[in-house]
Amino acid sequence: MTHDVTLPIYVKPSFSPRCVVCECENPTAIADITVLVSAPVQGLAEDAVDLALDTHSPSGNRNISLQVPACPRCKKGLKRWHFWKLIVQYLGPLLGTALLILALIKGLTYLGIGIVIVGIASPVIYELVNPPAFNATGSGRKLIYEFRSQRCSQEFAQLNQKEENSGS
Ligand SMILES: [Zn+2]
Repeated sequence: MTHDVTLPIYVKPSFSPRCVVCECENPTAIADITVLVSAPVQGLAEDAVDLALDTHSPSGNRNISLQVPACPRCKKGLKRWHFWKLIVQYLGPLLGTALLILALIKGLTYLGIGIVIVGIASPVIYELVNPPAFNATGSGRKLIYEFRSQRCSQEFAQLNQKEENSGS
């Protein structure tokens, strides 16, 4: 269970001076977190409108790096979580595909399909088993900031909503 704050992707987020892991004030370290933003899933009609209006729509997957406040001890854990997540994210499907090819060669189709499902599902399972203190998922024009700490998420929402209002 996480506390989510959704912001438009172009908003540069401000984090409150509080460790996202243990909630201690004024942490001395910054954790660089890289999040994968998937290409927007939209219909053909939306594509056509975007093209006609010549709006700048992001195409393809890309990485966004976030600077998240954390104390040095917590930073290590947070970085480790995202490191493993990245590994699982890339290796899971890769491993699944490799095993599928192997299974197909051996004529074990059902086993192959099963392995692919596990490969695709492994990042999701990993997430469910290990909830992070902080994570962000992006899709199209929105970025969802997920906090395990309710306090951090509330402060984050306050900070960024205020900035949005004063900016306009
Ligand atoms: Zn901490």
